[in-house]
Amino acid sequence: MSELSGARSQEQFLSILSREEAIARFDAALFPRPLRHETLPLLETLGRTVAHDICAPIDVPPFDRSNVDGFCLCAADVTSASEPTPVRLALNGEEIACGVTPMIRVARGTATPIATGGPLPRGADAVIMIEHTQPRGADAIEIRRAARPGQFISHAGSDMARGETLVRAGAVIGAREIGMLAACGVGALDVIAAPRVAILSTGDELAQPGATLGPAQIYDTNGPMVAAAVVEHGGASLFLGAIADDEKALEAAMRDALARCDMLILSGGSSKGAGDLTYRIIARLGSPGVIAHGVALKPGKPLCLAVCDGKPVVILPGFPTSAMFTFHDIVAPVLRRMAGLPARADSKVSARLPVHVASELGRTEFVMTALVDGPGGLLAYPTGKGSGAITSFTQADGFLRIDALADHAPAGASVEVTLFSQHLRVPDLTIIGSHCTGLDLITGPLMSAGRQVRVIAVGSHGGLAAARRGECDFAPIHLFDDKSETYNKPFLSEGLELVEGWRRMQGIVHRMDDARFKGLDARGAVALALADETSLMVNRNQGAGTRILLDRLLNGAKPEGYWNQPKSHNAVAAAVAQGRADWGMTIAPVARAYGLAFLPFAEEHYDLALVSARRERPAVRAFLDLLGSAPIREALLAAGFRRA
Ligand code: AMP
Ligand code: MG
Repeated sequence: MSELSGARSQEQFLSILSREEAIARFDAALFPRPLRHETLPLLETLGRTVAHDICAPIDVPPFDRSNVDGFCLCAADVTSASEPTPVRLALNGEEIACGVTPMIRVARGTATPIATGGPLPRGADAVIMIEHTQPRGADAIEIRRAARPGQFISHAGSDMARGETLVRAGAVIGAREIGMLAACGVGALDVIAAPRVAILSTGDELAQPGATLGPAQIYDTNGPMVAAAVVEHGGASLFLGAIADDEKALEAAMRDALARCDMLILSGGSSKGAGDLTYRIIARLGSPGVIAHGVALKPGKPLCLAVCDGKPVVILPGFPTSAMFTFHDIVAPVLRRMAGLPARADSKVSARLPVHVASELGRTEFVMTALVDGPGGLLAYPTGKGSGAITSFTQADGFLRIDALADHAPAGASVEVTLFSQHLRVPDLTIIGSHCTGLDLITGPLMSAGRQVRVIAVGSHGGLAAARRGECDFAPIHLFDDKSETYNKPFLSEGLELVEGWRRMQGIVHRMDDARFKGLDARGAVALALADETSLMVNRNQGAGTRILLDRLLNGAKPEGYWNQPKSHNAVAAAVAQGRADWGMTIAPVARAYGLAFLPFAEEHYDLALVSARRERPAVRAFLDLLGSAPIREALLAAGFRRA
């Protein structure tokens, strides 16, 4: 592992390419290339690209047929027919249903009953609807309307003519194309073979979803995600699981994958550290090898693009948001070309950036954003929790681009957001602020009832700022005012009103089996911890309500662990549960979820700063109604949250 450090990890990024240059080089090494064809049964061609033009092998309909239920006859016999002067015709001795071959010629002065879809017999040149006729005994009929020749007849080939081109090479098969091909009897066709794409995750720390997570392990996010994205873009994915960072095992897996597939996508192992492993192996797998390693792109700088004997080999960055983004930006277009699919048609919308976004000079930066309905139009809220967070991506509607030459995008800037899906659904209810699992108990039923709810977790202060600018309906907050010793109300400004939410009991947590704290209350536990040099605390971030309570308990003391200051209730509980700390302060429901002992201290108020101007919006009313309802009060209580 010594080569992981210093010189080597610097060396590998010496020749960082611009995004455009990397794409151009990758394309030049891969295209043009022949596309593989395969013949598939019609029903299996959905979403596939047609390999050659397909012409109609037969006429559709294959014969002249009736469009209505009625009688076929000779139009010349009924030119004078009308209600007062009906024409009488003799009935021929057959009835033409669908699938029945007519036997008797329709001679002048006669008619034959025919069903919709029935083939026209010899002699007949028009059909009269049954509604315009009257039976006259068993073997005659009266016609009360004149008919034009050809009336109510679809002639052979009028829908599709034999030899006519139905679908062109390159067309993508949808249900309508399948219908058309079925109508003229095409049972199988040549399509572009879906590129076979092998997917390998790399990392000693990875466990597959469904398995139990060991200590220091994380679930493999990229593998399943990329396997799905490959299918979305016309590939056939072969997910080969996660390989440990072991050169031999990795090389064997990569060789095997390349032998079986048209393309190989790895993730992880391309940044610092074990990174060089995969990079070194690629150099041995085929020429020309690595095309780009390090792209001036954010997220996604460690991206590695290679071509080994004609097959693309890509190492996506390990962080899931980076992996997903670089896949979409750089790999998906290549995959689509290999699958014969047209370039993706991205939908874009204009929006305004509500906050300042800093950006690194020299890298094209893509910022994931959630779109909300603000004063004066759409607002693009960055969802970024950093590229390590998968939700940066999944909670976004799309992304905006900050040019490599810009070092920021100012608050208020007009931006263009490229959407992840074809259609944008602007939320009916926008909540920006501090998140609480209690909130889900209310937004859940709203969403089940068909309302689009967007919760953007930016903390109490960020939420308040958004509410002051009128960018959300509510800002959930839990801010303690030291002077007045009250929660939330002192922080409201003009245009905002307080809606009482619920109370969350704050208390000291420790592991159940930690006998040191047995029988103590919160104050007692803290006093004991302060006196015990072996005990380690976990603090909270400056500005958190919990931090203010903790500082009061500590009364100026800064025990071991004081500088460990995570930003959430969950992080405190996880640190104690996993033994990285012995005690800290969190809320009761979180303590319970982590199986920790809980010593109650004080109730925290989690309230909603409502933007008064938005009070009458239907989704806001629905939220408030739910909040006040008995079932929600009970559900909150059951989850450990008390309505005042
Ligand atoms: P690496 O490039 O291997 O150094 O990985 C960078 C970061 O991404 C590390 O925190 C890895 O644990 C994480 N990571 C790598 N591969 C995956 C994966 N398949 N799923 C989730 N996280 C991953
Ligand atoms: Mg790794």
